[in-house]
Amino acid sequence: MKRVAVYPGSFDPITNGHLDIIKRASRIFDKLIVAVVRNPNKVSTFTVDERMDLIRKAVSGLPNIEIDHFEGLLVDFMKAKDAHVIIKGLRAISDFEYEFQMALMNRKLDPNIETLFMMTNYKYSYLSSSVVKEIGRLGGCIGDLVPDVVLQDIQKKLTDLK
Ligand code: ADP
Repeated sequence: MKRVAVYPGSFDPITNGHLDIIKRASRIFDKLIVAVVRNPNKVSTFTVDERMDLIRKAVSGLPNIEIDHFEGLLVDFMKAKDAHVIIKGLRAISDFEYEFQMALMNRKLDPNIETLFMMTNYKYSYLSSSVVKEIGRLGGCIGDLVPDVVLQDIQKKLTDLK
């Protein structure tokens, strides 16, 4: 049986923290599906297609990654993909309480699902998409914060928003 994991998130946009988790998780599973959440109640900066394109560029060369998107319940998406493991990154204790609640709720919705938490790389513990957007909009350097291959695309979009 193939071991398939799903790494869900907003990825608005992808950061080096996300990419680090993607690389590490993809080494553990046969296939890792990076799943962009389409949340109609949340305002995003990048469209779902833009977010998926940025991820696609950033992971090019990694053989076992699939990029997809979903709306609604993650457990339904997992079922459709025949996946049983959810990957989550943890940056700080502040991430923990919410993720703990989500993990228990997802297991209640589908007892076959396990959530696997991966500790951030210390270099990226301060890093979030919001920080990237804030710094980028204000004209600061985001060079160390997002993957090199998508740096220009992200910088351009953030500058255009000004
Ligand atoms: P954010 O906008 O906070 O970056 P996302 O929804 O895009 O949030 O995050 C998707 C997943 O990636 C979550 O499990 C989140 O905890 C994890 N993640 C985000 N940034 C990092 C980071 N710098 N290091 C490790 N995991 C991260």
